[in-house]
Amino acid sequence: MRTDLAVIGAGPAGLAAALAACARGVRVALVDAATEAGGQFYRQPAAGLRAGRPEALHHRWRTWERLRDGLAASAVRVLTDHHVWAVERGPDGFTVHALLGPEQEEPAEVHARAVILATGGYEQVLPFPGWTLPGVVTAGGAQAMLKGGLVVPGRRAVVAGSGPLLLPVATGLAAAGVEVAALVESTAPRRLAGHVPALAGKLAEGAGYAARLLRHRVPVLTRHTVVRAHGGGTMTPRPDGAMAPRTDGAPLRLTGVTVAALDGDGRVRPGTERHLPCDTLAVGHGMLPHTDLADGLGCRLDGLAVAVDAEQRTDVPGVWAAGEATGVGGAALALAEGHLAGRSAAARLRGTTPDPAPAAVKARTKLRRSAAALDSAYAPPAHWPEQVTDDTVICRCEEVTAGAVRDALDLGAGDERTVKLLTRAGMGWCQGRMCSTAVAGLAGCPPTPSRRPFARPVPLGVLARQHPQEGPS
Ligand SMILES: Cc1cc2nc3c(=O)[nH]c(=O)nc-3n(C[C@H](O)[C@H](O)[C@H](O)COP(=O)(O)OP(=O)(O)OC[C@H]3O[C@@H](n4cnc5c(N)ncnc54)[C@H](O)[C@@H]3O)c2cc1C
Repeated sequence: MRTDLAVIGAGPAGLAAALAACARGVRVALVDAATEAGGQFYRQPAAGLRAGRPEALHHRWRTWERLRDGLAASAVRVLTDHHVWAVERGPDGFTVHALLGPEQEEPAEVHARAVILATGGYEQVLPFPGWTLPGVVTAGGAQAMLKGGLVVPGRRAVVAGSGPLLLPVATGLAAAGVEVAALVESTAPRRLAGHVPALAGKLAEGAGYAARLLRHRVPVLTRHTVVRAHGGGTMTPRPDGAMAPRTDGAPLRLTGVTVAALDGDGRVRPGTERHLPCDTLAVGHGMLPHTDLADGLGCRLDGLAVAVDAEQRTDVPGVWAAGEATGVGGAALALAEGHLAGRSAAARLRGTTPDPAPAAVKARTKLRRSAAALDSAYAPPAHWPEQVTDDTVICRCEEVTAGAVRDALDLGAGDERTVKLLTRAGMGWCQGRMCSTAVAGLAGCPPTPSRRPFARPVPLGVLARQHPQEGPS
């Protein structure tokens, strides 16, 4: 199909961008891999699940209703189930290459004069012994099960790691009836105290979560970390309601975690270890921006995020970026950035300059400041690699252990790329999205944005059909 503007990603940023551009007379296609618009924050349960009160699992539902109803009333073409694997720049604009449906084998193309990248971010999880056991899920994954599948990941959960996402996950699970044995946060609360002015709005939100944790009697262990996840026979409820491992040969899965206190340097304090029985560990260590499509287009990155100007333009003409792809900062910031990107793209496509939008600019400035404060306050334990035993799997796709990575370091490897060449860590299906930070941490080098030509695995047949005239004669 042909359109003026392709917005990739239908989360808060993409929705705001599409609505703003469409309202200004531009033809817009909104493309997303998911079956419904909403992104991570407004993830919707599948229609077939007939959720009675989906709003019970969400915050700021009114905003979602406004976006959803605005989209339904607009002329935006919504293309769900479209997994975009590349955006190609040509003389007349851009070609968005996607694969359709759950099998992701049927190709589709959208031709547009301009593109807004609103592809969000993904969770970072640092490895520890036992982290590959069934029952260990990412914090966002646990929440996605709840919001999208209306299921809970288990009966007794520990929520652990670092970052503000742990709060809605712990309270969401507790409200859904999961016994949350503990929220284990490696950051000390006093690190937030140093950023009070920048965090003004966020502190009130945090207080709301604290009240909910108290109401659900969730113990909070700050400056603590999970040092090991333990596996055993599948857990089953005993007649008295407590959980116990099954003894009938059922497969290995999580039965509990060992947590320990951290000292001021981020090292485990010996003698503080304690065992928490649980059948679920929801763990996350912050988020990273999705930059594959931007990278493929040659957009400049600023650190690990897409660099944009005041209008949310990248340095590639015709390409805008908004939301978590430009830096992790939450749904409200994504909405403000998306709105500004949509206004700018619409104006530039018509050959004019965008009207001032002081409210959105002010919101963006304030929210970026609090995002930066949260980013510098929350951090995984500085010495986390010390807890990673040699037999811990680091790259799950290629099953590369920490021992193999350390062998590569002994051979002289000093960066992610050389470790990859020597061990295959990062060469598998996910192309290092899961293990890249861990490899960098073990190697003692800063994480580097990976260059991945495709944002999704693409069948060879689809690639061959792109340029049939170039085949062997
Ligand atoms: C797993 C998870 C759980 C979260 N839970 C919370 C929470 O409970 N509370 C909170 O305040 N914040 C939460 N966040 C953060 C919050 O969701 C974000 O701040 C917000 O959604 C950012 O909006 P966005 O539009 O930038 O990105 P997103 O909402 O992530 O939307 C990006 C969209 O782009 C689509 N996309 C990405 N790549 C492609 C591609 N190649 N092809 C097609 N489509 C693509 C995705 O399917 C997605 O719909 C969570 C984030 C994650 C990742």
